[in-house]
Order: sequence, then structure tokens, then C-alpha cells
Amino acid sequence: MGVDIQTIQGDITKVNDVEAIVNAANNSLLGGGGVDGAIHRAAGPELLKECRTLHGCETGEAKITGAYHLPCKYVIHTVGPIWRGGAYGEPELLKNAYWNSLQLAIDNGIRSIAFPSISTGVYSYPVEQAAAIAVKTVKEFCVAHAGRIDTVSFVLFDRNTLHVYEHAVSELQRNG
Ligand code: ADP
Repeated sequence: MGVDIQTIQGDITKVNDVEAIVNAANNSLLGGGGVDGAIHRAAGPELLKECRTLHGCETGEAKITGAYHLPCKYVIHTVGPIWRGGAYGEPELLKNAYWNSLQLAIDNGIRSIAFPSISTGVYSYPVEQAAAIAVKTVKEFCVAHAGRIDTVSFVLFDRNTLHVYEHAVSELQRNG
């Protein structure tokens, strides 16, 4: 059976039916605004303490921590690219952020994972392009690692982002 790709509108810190949530972090891994701030607030100060031991994260890479007061088991911190017009490797870096998060998940036996819309907030990545890369990368990863992941949820904060991801998933299903 293939992977189940879901799109839902909501706050990723409230998701309680996956083993890991992904944080759209920055290179310092020491917290920030947007989803990163929300995750740190909900997890509690122990998360920042663990993040300090990781010494940051390169763009496109991923690191894993505990989830503390969050209702999941792990947080996978990845850093998406800042949009600078598209000619600075942004698509490849965004793909790497999804791919390396999923790799870290399976390396830790995680079978269900929720992603926010990486890079489309403060980092300004155009959401249609980001959504296409996100769903394509998830599909590609799950085909390459068949049977290792059961569920991937995209948890989108606002209605417009939800609709863009829903469209990207249906396009992918139509075009194979
Ligand atoms: P980046 O710096 O990678 O652009 P942001 O956190 O600024 O990250 O934004 C990424 C996406 O996460 C945006 O669509 C933003 O609306 C969304 N977001 C913000 N808070 C939450 C949350 N609590 N749960 C899910 N998504 C969120």
C-alpha cells in the first residue's frame, strides 16, 4: 500500500496523531517566529535546551529532538531556503529539507509525520511552487522507501495555503 498524504488546516502544535512534527526552523535552531515560535512555546523551555546542544543546522539539512510538552514524540527541525528570486538553489534546498526530514524520520523508526509549509512564511517562498515541490518530494521519497512511512500530513495554517496544497496533491495524483 502507498503512503497516505493528507492536507489539513490547523495548528501543527496541536496535532496528536503523528509520531513527529517538522519545524520550519532557522540555521541557529534557537527559536524564531512563525511555526518555530509556536513549537517552542508549546514544547516548553526543555526544547530550547536540547536545541542548544545541536549547534545549528545547515539549510536543507534536518536534526531531531524530543517533543517535551507537545502531543507527539519527536520534533524534526529543518531549515528551508530564504526565497531570493529562485536562481540561488532554492528549489533544490527546499526539496532537501523535505527529503532529509523524511530520511531522519525513517532512521528513527518514525512512520507518521506532519509538515508545515516550509519557507512560505517569513522566508517568502511562493506557495504554489513550494507546495508542488513539497508533495512531489514526499511522493518520491515514499516510493523510494516503500513501506517505511504510513502517513504524511501537511498541516496548513491558513485557508489559502490549504487550498494550494490540496491542489498540488490532486495534480500529483492525476499526473502520477
Ligand atoms: P519560514 O521561515 O520557513 O517561512 P514560517 O513559520 O514563517 O516559516 O512560515 C511557514 C508556514 O507556517 C506559513 O504558512 C505560516 O503561516 C505557517 N505557520 C505559522 N504558525 C503555524 C502553526 N502553529 N502551525 C502550522 N503552520 C504554521
